[in-house]
Amino acid sequence: MSINLLDFDAKGLTSFCAEIGEKPFRARQLLRWIHRAGEADFDAMSDLAKGLREKLSAAAVIEPPKVISDHTAPDGTRKWLLSVGAGNGIETVYIPETSRGTLCISSQVGCALACAFCSTGRQGFNRNLTVAEIIGQLWWANKALTETFTSEAGRERPITNIVMMGMGEPLTNFENVVTSLDLMLDDNAYGLSRRRVTVSTSGIIPAMDRLRERCPVALAVSLHAPNDALRDQLVPINRKYPIRELLGACERYLQSAPRDFITFEYVMLDGVNDSVAQARELVQLVRDIPCKLNLIPFNPFPDSGFRRSSANAVSRFRDVLMEAGLVTTVRKTRGDDIAAACGQLAGKVLDKTRRAPRSIAEAAG
Ligand code: SF4
Repeated sequence: MSINLLDFDAKGLTSFCAEIGEKPFRARQLLRWIHRAGEADFDAMSDLAKGLREKLSAAAVIEPPKVISDHTAPDGTRKWLLSVGAGNGIETVYIPETSRGTLCISSQVGCALACAFCSTGRQGFNRNLTVAEIIGQLWWANKALTETFTSEAGRERPITNIVMMGMGEPLTNFENVVTSLDLMLDDNAYGLSRRRVTVSTSGIIPAMDRLRERCPVALAVSLHAPNDALRDQLVPINRKYPIRELLGACERYLQSAPRDFITFEYVMLDGVNDSVAQARELVQLVRDIPCKLNLIPFNPFPDSGFRRSSANAVSRFRDVLMEAGLVTTVRKTRGDDIAAACGQLAGKVLDKTRRAPRSIAEAAG
């Protein structure tokens, strides 16, 4: 089987070049061709000698996951369904705004953490994505968007921000995620700033500490509850890594973080975690940590067992937080009609862990 060069960051490509008897600067050239130019054909790499191109063609491929579908919603949100083999699919979503373009990337096929309100969690877990499958999502999106992008005021390129908030818990696929982050940040590849690349975690504490040391990018933590009793139900990993310990890990992370705050994600579930009393409890919990709160209206899916909080409940909750001096935003719901909103990623997962094969696309009818 040929080596897939999309699996390598700069260090990996340098080793690969050494193995085929090439100098380190070739790795830089390859990085630029593959990631900056979005080129998958060695023959099109015009500044590489013919002999080298032949050597590369014999030893390696540049193979991103295949695009199964590509939909754009009226609000500009664009969603790709990519095949990762064996009947499994993953989704990547692009959300354009005036001054930035955000790509939401998946890290696993399914997810083992089974958060109660999450579509992906309902599907069970199949496997970790490879680096080629993670960075391949950015590779495709960048290529597709660059073809049609016209430079606008405030941004020079279509993708300015990455959030690792798609399918999966990124920090349980640590090595592949960190290698992918290296490529996102590499000036010879995508050249994004650490502040604009966000890893979202449900709170895998040892991996948060490792990320802080290896590749501190912006961090979002899925909190979703103001106390352990409720979080144990909504985010079961809380039974292993309870809130106090999680907040301690957040404080440690802030010592190296590129931003001086942690984002806490809080999905708003009607009658479950959206009362004024719970907002006050949340204030007490996080008031000593530099943070921003992001309230996310729940996106219902069939048989979820939850309802979205009313607009009034969300406003009341937000007001309590803001009156206490906490920076709070309410996430706009985008791309509803192509099921690209948070928690609605529809990739098809053949579950290897607990459940029968099921896809959210099927479940969503
Ligand atoms: S919310 Fe995140 S960690 Fe929880 S089940 Fe869904 S994908 Fe996994």
